[in-house]
Amino acid sequence: MTKEVEREEIESVCTYCGVGCDITGVVENNRIIKIYAQKDGVVSEGNLCIKGKYGYDFVESKDRIRDPRIRKTFLEKNLHIKEAFAAKLSPFNSEFLTCDLDTATSIATMKLDEIKKKYGGDAFCAIGGARTSCESAYAFQKFCRETMDSPHVDNCARVCHSPSLKGMRATMGEGAATNPYNDIYETEFMVVIGSNTMEAHPIIANRIVNVAKQHNNLAVIDVRETKLVKFAKHNCVIPFESNLLVLNMMAYVIIDEELYDRSFIDNRTKGFDTFKEKILNDPYANPDFFKNVEGYEYLAKMIPNIAREYAVKKSMIFWGLGITQHLDGSHAVMAITHLALMTGNVGKTGAGLMPLRGQNNVQGACDMGCLPYFAPDYQQPKKEGLMTPQLMDAMLDGRIKALLNMGEDITHIHPNINKIDKAMDMLEFCMVQELFMTDVTKKADIIIGVKSAYEKTGVYVNAMRRLHLSQPLVKSDLPDDWEVLTQMADKLGDGENFHFKTSEDVWNEVREVAPRRFSGAAYFRLERHRKRGMQWPIYHEDTPILHLLDFRTDDGLGKYVYKQYEPRGMVQQILDKNLFDEKLEGYYLTTGRTLAHYNNAAQTKQTESLLKKHDEDVLLAPLEDEEKLGDRVILKSEYGESEALTVKYTDKVKKKTLFCTFHHAASRVNAVFGDEADELIYTARFKSVKVDVIPVGDE
Ligand code: SF4
Repeated sequence: MTKEVEREEIESVCTYCGVGCDITGVVENNRIIKIYAQKDGVVSEGNLCIKGKYGYDFVESKDRIRDPRIRKTFLEKNLHIKEAFAAKLSPFNSEFLTCDLDTATSIATMKLDEIKKKYGGDAFCAIGGARTSCESAYAFQKFCRETMDSPHVDNCARVCHSPSLKGMRATMGEGAATNPYNDIYETEFMVVIGSNTMEAHPIIANRIVNVAKQHNNLAVIDVRETKLVKFAKHNCVIPFESNLLVLNMMAYVIIDEELYDRSFIDNRTKGFDTFKEKILNDPYANPDFFKNVEGYEYLAKMIPNIAREYAVKKSMIFWGLGITQHLDGSHAVMAITHLALMTGNVGKTGAGLMPLRGQNNVQGACDMGCLPYFAPDYQQPKKEGLMTPQLMDAMLDGRIKALLNMGEDITHIHPNINKIDKAMDMLEFCMVQELFMTDVTKKADIIIGVKSAYEKTGVYVNAMRRLHLSQPLVKSDLPDDWEVLTQMADKLGDGENFHFKTSEDVWNEVREVAPRRFSGAAYFRLERHRKRGMQWPIYHEDTPILHLLDFRTDDGLGKYVYKQYEPRGMVQQILDKNLFDEKLEGYYLTTGRTLAHYNNAAQTKQTESLLKKHDEDVLLAPLEDEEKLGDRVILKSEYGESEALTVKYTDKVKKKTLFCTFHHAASRVNAVFGDEADELIYTARFKSVKVDVIPVGDE
């Protein structure tokens, strides 16, 4: 007798990037057999990129972590724990024993309790990714702050958009996108700066491309020619580390030519006249600076043209990590917001600011308080903790003894991975909650396999502040992250505080402690508005456009936080007139994503077709260097070196510059980046490092 096939179609949200596309999973007998875009999807508009469409094989991969794993060497170092749980442990492989979840959390909490009693709560830290739900992110910071009594909680926003949060809050009081994606159809001019949108946020890029094709109204500003420039009216390739320079130049032109909106400035902002004075006297803000810069002369005309068009039209600015991952990332974000404040290009349909957030729930993880300086809802925490790079130093000097890592592959996707390796080796205890064995699980004493986004219920917040209540496509026996944390909190005597039985229980607590954004976002309302989605702040209604009447600053006014550009790196070489001196060694390297993969590719590489598209990290180098460098090279900086990389030569990167992806741990590209980071918020300077390129020839 043939078994009847149980077939269902379930609506949910894509697990990869911050665009947050609405998806439908076709499920047969608890297996996903297809994912497609909802034709009327408000976000996807009926399209998904290849990650969203094909990247679901990971769900039932044989490589998923199922039963918890306990490292044998950890048990040898902690014989009392080994003895206490010996009867419950079974062999797994040469490195690990295995056990049930209850035993694993008992072992973990026994060790954490010992560490807390011996060194205090401050010796514990929690670093999370943002691929999990808001419920899990909330429980994560609560476990760290309340159960472990440690202020040290951070998330992957440290290496991506923390400067956007910092910069936008300083000037507008809210660190998030101001408008819905569909405002792209209402805008008259678009500036995309520091974003490889077609690969990193492809479904937003679809809208930008469609509008640009129709209206020829797109400016792309970047250090290389990304795929988007094909549709750009202004293809503005700028020197490395010159974002703040270029943005201040745009402000200069708008002020100098009096293209600003005086009424908006007077009614909605404060401090413009001081800002104006500073910009006009800034020694670098006049675009004439570029007139005599070999290879970049066109910028002297192009930057004013972009500034003029931006100022007089209803305009939007989009940015990605090309802005934030710099020493002056937060200030560059403030410089972006200045342009909007001066011209009134904010607080209305078709005009606004769009930081293109990275992971599917990075906005949500920050909203939930997974940051050392913000409690949920961006409230003051009782005590500020350390940011991830500071935590690495604290591990090295012995202040931090234990780490709980929830899905953040810090030994692969963070900078200075040689240093992180050493720092993690100093820990007395490391526990990781993950789907797969990644680079960071090599450092873990206990590894707990958890549900993926396609196996659980939970809220995700995308890059336009849109909440999506995700429902499971398939059933799984694995625990959700928040369930592991609830079990551990209970065992550490904090059970009353963690009274959660369902993800909805967790979410209802979020709504109580984060009322400024989520009070009106009950599950039933999110369910009812699943198609349209709801954008925070959500009370009776939601808020598609922020800052309509006032900014979310203390006095409701927008602020200007001027910062003079400080020349360095490539720009300093421009000033020294030696940028193209052939005798001077060294290239400027930037990194980024490719369409087929997401970050450490832990999930995407489980789909063969995606892996085949990009099965190694490839370096893009200038055409003219092909003969000199050959097919394979090693990148070397003062911090470390990569493994040998395949080189592809292209006219899309300029002289003395390079681009490389970082998806594959084996390439060790991130070893060449050091501790240089945003001066306010410690986001790594991934978008510029000076490297030597060493040919390794044919192997
Ligand atoms: Fe998923 Fe982002 Fe692709 Fe949409 S654009 S399908 S959210 S990876």
